[in-house]
Amino acid sequence: MAKELSVIIPVYNEQENIRPLYDALKPVLEAMGVGYEIIFVDDGSTDGTAAAIEGLASDPNVRALEFRRNFGQTAAFAAGFDHAEGEVIITMDGDLQNDPIDIPKLFDMVRNGKYDLVSGWRKNRQDSFLNRKLPSMLANWLIGKVTGVKLHDYGCSLKAYRRDVVKNLKLYGEMHRFIPAVANWYGVNVAEVETTHHPRLRGKSKYGIGRTVKVFLDLITVKFLQSFSTKPIQFFGPMGLASTAGGMVISLYLAAQKLLLGKSIGGRPLLLLGVLLIIIGVQLIGMGLLGEMIVRVYHESQKKPIYALKKIIGPDNR
Ligand code: UDP
Ligand code: MG
Repeated sequence: MAKELSVIIPVYNEQENIRPLYDALKPVLEAMGVGYEIIFVDDGSTDGTAAAIEGLASDPNVRALEFRRNFGQTAAFAAGFDHAEGEVIITMDGDLQNDPIDIPKLFDMVRNGKYDLVSGWRKNRQDSFLNRKLPSMLANWLIGKVTGVKLHDYGCSLKAYRRDVVKNLKLYGEMHRFIPAVANWYGVNVAEVETTHHPRLRGKSKYGIGRTVKVFLDLITVKFLQSFSTKPIQFFGPMGLASTAGGMVISLYLAAQKLLLGKSIGGRPLLLLGVLLIIIGVQLIGMGLLGEMIVRVYHESQKKPIYALKKIIGPDNR
């Protein structure tokens, strides 16, 4: 049977969860009556996770990708995306906090062609408030504001994608939570649905409050790439021009003081400011121009178009 669904599950030290997860997942997928595969991505686990996954190898629908070391959840998703064969791709956590019963709902929303990306929303999230829910509420609000893609819950791993959305994605750092924002560049239709969330029963959470800083830095990167990745001079240029112009005005004023009125300007702090503004301004414009060159190298060396096509009518003559 051709594969219609790939379920990607990153796992890192989840040995007690593999079997219960598989037992919960299997009946749901079988009942859907579509060709599917389950891809476990073992993110360099140091416990019995790999052995637990190998214990499922008798099921021809199970595939596993084993990392050499811990590369992080984003890398695990990326590996899963690279290897997935399904038309619809669903990601979920390996600790049973996401519930497999939500899968058919997400699958249908993508499958019937209406949405390219459906994101789960853990409305009744079962995690601690101070440590997890509060930072994540702030983060969701901020990410929505900055990227313009408004979701209640960016952090939910349970998401469904149309195949071509993930095949075009390049993920770095901790970027998996920004996939809806990144994918938005392609003009995808994003929907959000409420999904069930359970407390973690076995194993330990891999994240703490320290994640907040990383997410914040990644947000700056995403925003920059989203807005200016094909036009860096438009980002640096205005700042550079304003700075240079300010420096020029100050310098002309001081020059007039010196040449026309004969005043000494050597000890004036304003002189420093004027010179500084000119130097910074020239640097910023230079950075913008360098950025323009880098953008060209980036797009042309990878044959990466600066647009995204939905379909071509008539022959494809490339
Ligand atoms: N995970 C991973 N690599 C990591 C950290 C986490 O593959 O470096 C997996 C982990 O095994 C789990 C999922 O990502 O399946 C979510 O992790 P966790 O439950 O710790 O996050 P939380 O639900 O606490 O936000
Ligand atoms: Mg979890």
